[in-house]
Amino acid sequence: MITDPFQSSIEQLESAAKFLGLSREIIDQLSQPQRIVKVNFPVLMDDGNIKIFVGFRSQHNNARGPYKGGLRFSLQVTESEVKALSAWMTWKCAVAGIPFGGGKGGVVVDTKQLSITELERLSRAYIKAIYDVIGPNKDVPAPDMYTTPEIMAWMVDEYSKLVGEYTPAVITGKPIDKGGSEGRTEATGQGGVYVLEQLSQKANLVPQNTSVAIQGSGNVGYYFAVLAQQLGYKIVAISDSTLALYNPDGVDVNAAMEHKKQSGSFVGFTGASQITNDQLLELNVDVLVPAAVENVINEVNAGNIKAKYIIEMANGPVTPEADKILSQRNIISIPDILSNSGGVTVSYFEWQQNKDNQKWTKEEVLNKLKPIMVNAFEEAWAAMGKYGTDMRTATYVLAVKKVVDAMIK
Ligand code: NAD
Repeated sequence: MITDPFQSSIEQLESAAKFLGLSREIIDQLSQPQRIVKVNFPVLMDDGNIKIFVGFRSQHNNARGPYKGGLRFSLQVTESEVKALSAWMTWKCAVAGIPFGGGKGGVVVDTKQLSITELERLSRAYIKAIYDVIGPNKDVPAPDMYTTPEIMAWMVDEYSKLVGEYTPAVITGKPIDKGGSEGRTEATGQGGVYVLEQLSQKANLVPQNTSVAIQGSGNVGYYFAVLAQQLGYKIVAISDSTLALYNPDGVDVNAAMEHKKQSGSFVGFTGASQITNDQLLELNVDVLVPAAVENVINEVNAGNIKAKYIIEMANGPVTPEADKILSQRNIISIPDILSNSGGVTVSYFEWQQNKDNQKWTKEEVLNKLKPIMVNAFEEAWAAMGKYGTDMRTATYVLAVKKVVDAMIK
């Protein structure tokens, strides 16, 4: 079983490269980030001691534009992980057709152990350590796991002080009153629902007769669920990290979330029965939407998946081994680099607004997002037929081709 995300990313590149007949030199070039920066930096803790933290910034490829990608604060951050995530960002931006390359960064830290003042000093110290390799036309970070809009605001402030000018376009995902974009919060879920609508057209799925199971109910899962429900899709299951709610007639997502808000969990919600996350994944539904964590569909359960279609909203929810099994079973999986690219696309809109000193309405933002998602889906669907392969490989072939075409060889 492949668990090293960097190895998975190389496998995905290699399978796309076969269709494009890429030379070994190009494949080798695209396998590794162009630059990876590792920093050890000091942070003053509240007790007066100095603690040294380790951080990374991986810059995979900038042939199509500045590196773009989030920053993670987590004990799980490793060099291998940021390298893989930066490569996925390169492909994701190419699929969406936005003029960015791929980057990713992180700091090895458990934010739950920090006070708010320590978190602010850590965020500023990390930027001080990497500020010379980032910039609005160089590398544009954003939030990711355990980093927030507020953290992005501290980072922009620190960067602006270091370079001597207010530079909001250096980082996206900021709070709205600090240069953030309207529509960013729901962008990833909304983008996924645009994909669901396109898929429905291809597969003749009528919303009212289409059952959908969603793993996760965080930013991505929640917005996907409510927006799909508004269109009439039957959300028969939704989960959090502890349990899943199931009702074959449909779960009222807003009522379930309200129950969780009031009581602290989904336990006791009367509009659905309780099942496990593993059972959710194996439900007999039309569309399965993993929107929580990576590797949840793997060689152990891929043979038991009953959904006809999977829309990958989490990053890396299907392992390469599972992918082969799903493909043999004719289950179409819309890959993460396409399905969840709504988030980075609206980050691009934020960057554009900052550079042009503009402020777009939410309606404007979502109206610009839709054609990008529709076009990305249509291109990948057509490539699936053209190359006679599965949707993931077809999407990778398109993405890798766009990057290779932009590279100076
Ligand atoms: P989040 O932290 O808001 O929500 C995560 C959800 O997953 C929560 O409902 C949590 O209870 C659930 N969860 C956590 N561990 C779980 C487990 N072991 N089993 C089942 N459920 C579990 O995160 P998010 O922003 O919604 O991101 C979800 C996924 O989407 C991640 O893979 C993320 O990288 C990806 N993604 C997010 C964005 C974005 O804009 N937020 C963009 C692209 C991709």
